[in-house]
Amino acid sequence: MIIAITCVIAIVVLVFVLGVRPKDLPEPEPVSPFVHLDERKAAIYENLRDLQFEYRLGKLSDNDYQLTKKDLQKELAAVMAEVDKVKLALQSGRPVAAPAAAPSPAAKSKPTCPHCSATFDQDLKFCGECGKPMKAVRA
Ligand SMILES: [Zn+2]
Repeated sequence: MIIAITCVIAIVVLVFVLGVRPKDLPEPEPVSPFVHLDERKAAIYENLRDLQFEYRLGKLSDNDYQLTKKDLQKELAAVMAEVDKVKLALQSGRPVAAPAAAPSPAAKSKPTCPHCSATFDQDLKFCGECGKPMKAVRA
């Protein structure tokens, strides 16, 4: 009985230490930022399963079971929060919507004098530069 409890406590402490360490040590960038979080999540799930198993075998008191379970669930919530944080960071760091390409004003052709090649912002009957008709004179 005592050995079982000691084992569970040791596992919880181990999970806690493993969970805290990555924050203290600047670890090399993983291939996916979710990999180590997924591993931690899996470890916590495994501990919860073990805990439930031992509780069903009667190795744990109700109180010990509830306390350890609460600890593990707290740990799990922390991991989930971290997953969300990483997801958010990825989203903000990588803008999904590309800035809308402004339609180029150069694409719109301006009225150009056929005689002196002066350009104007609006249609004119006669060129403001050379005074000749802007458009081919119709007879
Ligand atoms: Zn002109």
